[in-house]
Amino acid sequence: MIVTGKELLSKAKAGKYAVPALNVDNLESVIGVLRAAEETGKSIIVQTIPRTLDYGGVGTYSAMIRALYGGGADICIHLDHGGSEEICRKCIEKGYTSVMIDGSALPFEENVKLTARVADIAHAAGVSVEGELGTIGGKEQTEGKISYTDPKQAREFAMRTGVDSLAVGVGTAHGVYKGVPHIAVDRIYEIAALTDVPLVLHGASGLSDEVIRNCIAAGITKINFATQLRQAFTEGLRRALAKAPEAFDPKAYLPEAIEYVKNAAVGIINLCCGM
Ligand SMILES: [Zn+2]
Repeated sequence: MIVTGKELLSKAKAGKYAVPALNVDNLESVIGVLRAAEETGKSIIVQTIPRTLDYGGVGTYSAMIRALYGGGADICIHLDHGGSEEICRKCIEKGYTSVMIDGSALPFEENVKLTARVADIAHAAGVSVEGELGTIGGKEQTEGKISYTDPKQAREFAMRTGVDSLAVGVGTAHGVYKGVPHIAVDRIYEIAALTDVPLVLHGASGLSDEVIRNCIAAGITKINFATQLRQAFTEGLRRALAKAPEAFDPKAYLPEAIEYVKNAAVGIINLCCGM
């Protein structure tokens, strides 16, 4: 079934594993991640960022996911990094079962207000909500500063907003890491000790398996992967085109890109689910 994020994450929290949240960009990456879920029999969250929706249309990805989902383990369709109430509303209308409202760049009180408002709207529609407190590096990193999530503030934020999950800043970054990242695993333990809300790790592409396992042990229950899957798609595509430079039918060379996405997703799923 296609279920809410809350449903998947509460099971993951009880089972002490993490649900992989896999970003998709096109039909091929949707096919790839769904095949990985089918092959492993594990639940995944399939998610899109607003820029992907700008690229392909707000309702396009949820329609593709719904059309291609073949049953088996439950999945969730999630909006990653929703920047406004409006985009969250649109995604809810288009069949998303979970949305993220990212008010992390706002002052605390404004973040609380925006997130609580979106949580009310989403909950009324039976959709779950992820908020964010603290900053995640990479694209969000405006002045080279990462502010780690304060555990007490996280507790207050969760209580006042009613979010179903919370993305935390613990030293991860979006995109490709320059050098070895330092992840404050202790901070995850401290946050998890003060709030029952499932915690989300962004920017996991490029972290070692060991760091990811440590983060899950510390209390992370959803882990986002985008860059790794984009790299896999592009590598598969490049290889297919290099092997057959005369190919012109996308259906002839895209299957290799799908296969690369699927294989990357299977590896991620096994890592998150502790296989
Ligand atoms: Zn993120």
